[in-house]
Amino acid sequence: MGRRSVSARFSTPRSVRHPPEKIVAWQVLSNEIRACVLCSLHQTRTQAVVYRGTLAPTVLFVGEAPGVAEDLAGIPFVGRSGQRLDVAIGQVGLTVDEFGVLNLLKCHPPKNRFDRAAERACRPYLDRQIAFLGPKVLVPLGSHAFHALAPEGPPILTAAGQPYPQEGPSLFPLIHPAAAMRSRRLAERWDRDVVALGRWLRGRTE
Ligand code: SF4
Repeated sequence: MGRRSVSARFSTPRSVRHPPEKIVAWQVLSNEIRACVLCSLHQTRTQAVVYRGTLAPTVLFVGEAPGVAEDLAGIPFVGRSGQRLDVAIGQVGLTVDEFGVLNLLKCHPPKNRFDRAAERACRPYLDRQIAFLGPKVLVPLGSHAFHALAPEGPPILTAAGQPYPQEGPSLFPLIHPAAAMRSRRLAERWDRDVVALGRWLRGRTE
């Protein structure tokens, strides 16, 4: 696609300069998350993993939980899944001031087992982050993220690769990038759905 940015195709102009009070408010929320002991995952984490991206994202990618690499780095999606996601973000034409990446759970669950009790405890942080960041589009990555945002939604393999109708920000689910590394079939599905996401983002204002 051309280099005209996705946000330029949306109606609201963006600025990479954020008001100081907005930055401070975000830091307060981030520090609250980093100090959180609301569920048992605080006992095994290296650190909470809060967010990476602009404070005014057009598109917000929502993953499930930090992995080992993210737990060590303190940054979401920096491992192999993150590399695949970053390639996809480039393919759909998003620039650094147009997207953000976070997870449902802010702390790494041992053995990567998704923890329902932690999800319930952590959910208010996700809602506050989304309300603060105000994205126009949410891209849940994988089943847990999709069903957290669309509880009545169909299985992720049915929903992925197309917009899912709901109130609020638009929802366009994808399978999790880690799933795309499990089989050739899922890798092809990931590639197809990323192309569909790029086409849909472009079509929103054309
Ligand atoms: S996973 Fe969420 S609720 Fe649990 S300790 Fe970490 S930040 Fe707190």
